[in-house]
Amino acid sequence: MKLNKLTKEEEKVIVRKGTEAPFTGKYDKFFEPGIYVCKRCGAKLYRSENKFDSGCGWPSFDAEVKGAVRRVPDPDGSRTEIECAMCGAHLGHVFTGEGFTAKNVRHCVNSISLEFIPYAKVGDKVKGKKQATSKAAIKGQIAKTN
Ligand SMILES: [Zn+2]
Repeated sequence: MKLNKLTKEEEKVIVRKGTEAPFTGKYDKFFEPGIYVCKRCGAKLYRSENKFDSGCGWPSFDAEVKGAVRRVPDPDGSRTEIECAMCGAHLGHVFTGEGFTAKNVRHCVNSISLEFIPYAKVGDKVKGKKQATSKAAIKGQIAKTN
């Protein structure tokens, strides 16, 4: 597993399980269509379709990408911590029964733990693959001409 190098601020939250100040994260009031990946390992964690404005000051999601988020009891004895299932990066906490959405779940996630990739850019990656195929096709054509 290749891990990204973290800044001191990122390390404080991701490694030492800190919490960024509310209403300061760059994805708090951010609702572009795309996917949120783990800042440290790049695993796909959340989709914009599941993001909602809870008004709590942190990005909120009512569902994670299946199997991408692990729930662990917080040492504080009451909350449930959430971390990246791939690398163990601290994401935030998960709460249930608040009635925000039909799913009745709120993943309260630190912006600094996430990296947003617009769907348009995810599409580019797929296009890149297609280009590779067409390159092979061009090679084939050249071979034919020769
Ligand atoms: Zn991760």
